[in-house]
Amino acid sequence: MGVPISQMWTVATYVLGKKLRGVTRYPLVLMLEPLFRCNLACAGCGKIQYPGDILRKNLSVEDCLRAVDECGAPMVAIPGGEPLLHPQIDEIVAGIVARKKYVYMCTNALLLEKHLHRFQPSKYFSFSVHMDGLREEHDHAVCREGTYDIAERAIRAAIAAGFRVTTNTTLFDGAEPERVRQFFDAMTELGVEGMMLSPGYSYEKAPDQEHFLKRRKTVQLFRRTLEKASRRWKFNQSPLFLMFLQGKWKLECTPWGNPTYNIFGWQKPCYLLQEGYTQSFQELMESTQWENYGCQSGNPHCSDCMVHSGYEPSAVAATFGTLSGFLQTVRAVLFGIPDDKSSSEPPKTTGRPLLQPLDSEAPFPTPASPRESVSTAAYQLPIITR
Ligand code: SF4
Repeated sequence: MGVPISQMWTVATYVLGKKLRGVTRYPLVLMLEPLFRCNLACAGCGKIQYPGDILRKNLSVEDCLRAVDECGAPMVAIPGGEPLLHPQIDEIVAGIVARKKYVYMCTNALLLEKHLHRFQPSKYFSFSVHMDGLREEHDHAVCREGTYDIAERAIRAAIAAGFRVTTNTTLFDGAEPERVRQFFDAMTELGVEGMMLSPGYSYEKAPDQEHFLKRRKTVQLFRRTLEKASRRWKFNQSPLFLMFLQGKWKLECTPWGNPTYNIFGWQKPCYLLQEGYTQSFQELMESTQWENYGCQSGNPHCSDCMVHSGYEPSAVAATFGTLSGFLQTVRAVLFGIPDDKSSSEPPKTTGRPLLQPLDSEAPFPTPASPRESVSTAAYQLPIITR
């Protein structure tokens, strides 16, 4: 099953409605973290380093649903921690689905088969399974052998039970493009609805600080990984974001696009940085100095960041908010992302930001003609998550 048309329609009308009303800052995906506890301890994770008393805490169902209502975003991602460790995660999901919001619940899938019966298949609900590559790479990334096989089995079980299932993959320095491409083939064979990609972000608290990608390396890796993409691969991300990762489209971060709510409150300014909390969504929007964030701000925490939670909402806004973005998206959906022959090497950075603001209408290098476009993977409208 592809991303439901109703979901694309919901996102498109939501963004266009904001645009018509002149609203420039709005949430697209609420990142709802109901707990930080996890049953894995991945080397690249910055979410599980809290002391025990924090890790034991859960957001209540009421708190979660109040945050959903307060935020108003049409999509909700539930990362963590491992959401299946929350004793009422099924009630949280059911409450969000009842509000007709599209929910992506991230999971490492270790407990998925056991807990499948607690959820109902719905067009509003998808499991987003954490898979960081083929067996060897995934087990290494999550620091536990056997995890890939368990997750693969759980994906099969969830699909057989009628659930929407997607994957989310973080790529770190050292990833082998050919192995990543084989991984896309494997997930496609499994029958997942779509795959979500992101470069890793260098959380200061993460145990492994060596393998986070710098911006130039990110562009190189994603170009090599996504060139001549298979027609069968499906990504549940906007084409503009995937082009951005390959250095073929300019975006600036919109940190308010994926606001984060967790046991501390509304996190400033984004899913990755923790520079204070507010007790209401409105206060988050009004009190955050947004100009201090994003690549162009010069903030060193942002200079190498290209993660989905900052830039996927920018891509969506560009798709539905600018003519050039919309036309490029249509072109990518019909003919694939241009395989720019001049781009075997990514653009050189000079210490100045590589990208420019979202609403810039500066001309972008002319894409290759449709006949030259060899990348024909299926690109879908945006989503998510971790
Ligand atoms: S560039 Fe990255 S770290 Fe900086 S505000 Fe955006 S999402 Fe957060």
